[in-house]
Amino acid sequence: MDAIQLEQNYLVQAYARPPLVLTHGQGVWLQDAEGRRYLDLVAGIAVSALGYGDAEIIETICQAGQKPLHYSNLYHNEPMARLAARLVALTPFAQRVHFQNSGTESTEAAMKFARKYARTHFGQDKSNILAFSGAFHGRTMGALAATPREKYQKPYEPLMPGVRFARYNDIDSARAAMDDSICAVIVEPLQGEGGIHPAQEGFLAALQDLAHQHNALLIFDEVQCGVGRTGHFWAHQHDAVQPDILCAAKPLANGLPMGAVLVTQAVADVIHPGDHGTTFAGGPFVSSVANVVVNRIGNPDFLAHVQATGAYFKEQLQALSSPHIVQVRGRGLMLGVQLDMPAGPVVQAGYHHGLLLLNAGADVLRLVPPLIITKNDIDIAIQRLAAVLAEVG
Ligand SMILES: *Cc1c(COP(=O)(O)O)cnc(C)c1O
Repeated sequence: MDAIQLEQNYLVQAYARPPLVLTHGQGVWLQDAEGRRYLDLVAGIAVSALGYGDAEIIETICQAGQKPLHYSNLYHNEPMARLAARLVALTPFAQRVHFQNSGTESTEAAMKFARKYARTHFGQDKSNILAFSGAFHGRTMGALAATPREKYQKPYEPLMPGVRFARYNDIDSARAAMDDSICAVIVEPLQGEGGIHPAQEGFLAALQDLAHQHNALLIFDEVQCGVGRTGHFWAHQHDAVQPDILCAAKPLANGLPMGAVLVTQAVADVIHPGDHGTTFAGGPFVSSVANVVVNRIGNPDFLAHVQATGAYFKEQLQALSSPHIVQVRGRGLMLGVQLDMPAGPVVQAGYHHGLLLLNAGADVLRLVPPLIITKNDIDIAIQRLAAVLAEVG
């Protein structure tokens, strides 16, 4: 039986997948079992930042694979320690790092740290969390409570109590929802799942002021927009603003599962041995790979490449004369194309044109290719996208 048949027989049907089986990849191209090639504008949901078959990643995996893959957080771990130091060096506000295995675990850790901080400094009653419309913070019970999508939440109620919502990019709405019972404000500097909506200029800075007026911590969820995606190492570095806690994950280890929470010294000071932990996170193997990713993407020349190719991609999308394109949004290589029709059929048609596409919500195409994409690749992507839009429209 082939993979598709086996999946249909044996997997929980929690995903709707197209009828192709990816087997190989090189650079920004993926290939299926039938030998068809696809230009990848998805990168496994903004994960495979260095693309496929990267020589340094392969070399690192071969070296690290000779050593223990895991010895748990019971023991010191040299690759993890080096990675933490490098992340702190790249992040002006942060002094310390705690590792996880995924994005949702990193937002869980952030909310736990914020509650512990509030308890330690301000007593028992400061435990509420302010989140925003359109947000996505993950699907475990705490993160889910801060992800206001009925389809995701409703079947799993009761959710974690204590989360309230304001409108994204509406500081008056945040002010109205804010009070001293809030221990943390959690926000994506550029919303991904919600439809590629960047924070408007001044919104994050106003949130920082508001949070601090109420002794609440500011958490930036950069699981999707962080680690070079927008052309800065962190998406919030486009604005003069600093959080107290930052969550990262998707691209951190180029496809191996890893999350990280970066914190100020003040936040780190309330966390003591045993307060929070996980078996796998930050193991020597995954941390070795993440060191390659962070070193490469943290290089100013790499970030300049993302800025240049992202700007070029956006221009070319804006120049596409499709009547179905309403707006092109986003920063760097995190772009959204607002359509006047559902995005699903466009994604489907992409497969027949050798193009991997992804939606973000019902009618937005989300373009989050490997960050190593070139202008030449983008020209090919634009040609194919034009053909797809002409066909579907
Ligand atoms: C994907 C995502 C998450 C959840 O990450 P998982 O690794 O899927 O658990 C959280 N926050 C944001 C902003 C994301 O894009």
